[in-house]
Amino acid sequence: MQDKRFFIFRHGRVLVRKDSPDLLPVSKEWPALESMAESILPMSKDPENTDFVVQLRPDAEPGADFEWIPLRGLVGRVDDDIFNLWGKASQILHWQKIHRYCGTCGAETVDHPSEQAKICPACSLSWYPRISPCVIVLITRGEEMLLARSPRFTEGMYSTLAGFVEPGESVESTLRREIAEEVAIRIKNIRYFGSQPWPFPGQLMLGFFAEYSSGEIHIDGVEISDAGWYHFRNLPMIPDAGTIAGRMIRRYADHLEGRYPSPIDRR
Ligand SMILES: [Zn+2]
Repeated sequence: MQDKRFFIFRHGRVLVRKDSPDLLPVSKEWPALESMAESILPMSKDPENTDFVVQLRPDAEPGADFEWIPLRGLVGRVDDDIFNLWGKASQILHWQKIHRYCGTCGAETVDHPSEQAKICPACSLSWYPRISPCVIVLITRGEEMLLARSPRFTEGMYSTLAGFVEPGESVESTLRREIAEEVAIRIKNIRYFGSQPWPFPGQLMLGFFAEYSSGEIHIDGVEISDAGWYHFRNLPMIPDAGTIAGRMIRRYADHLEGRYPSPIDRR
């Protein structure tokens, strides 16, 4: 069995060893952990599970070998597999925090005996960690891409369009609605690129390419403060390559440079 790994959190920050260049979670060589933990939860119900999420007590002092960094600070700095484990740990902690009581009758919930779920002993309702699907779309027009900025973005940053899937919608309808609302153009040839778990706090990003069909850009002025067509050789500041939006923009530019036969080729 592999060594135990502890994904340690406090106030939304994660604990890593200073001497760990790959920012791995803390492994078993830390005898003081149990006395410093508010809670230690297994990250799966698999009996072979070796991964644990730990909420550290506010007064615990991990020592000079460790440092706290924001969860977001891991994006692009660690491999996807490790980042997704940190994300899963964060989502398990969040889910535990918001489902301590039954939303229907108010009774205290308990852990499901065999599944990653909380159940209400009084009315038998159950709650699984919630995942919110969100679409990300890169609209292309020949050698140009439609990039937009939200007022929430870092100054100067432009990215793909994005939006949450609403009740009753297919992913395709979400794409068309978001694009119509945010920039008021029409698209064609929607192609799936890939997905990325995004634990802030529990989105699943579904990435798509779409081709421009018709219309002029009219921004909504609320979710989008600016949008335009950008040539692939003259891009503004774009998201980190650790994000699915950053990957899609780079992938399309690489495709135009001749490095990929198709932007959705997964090599
Ligand atoms: Zn209940």
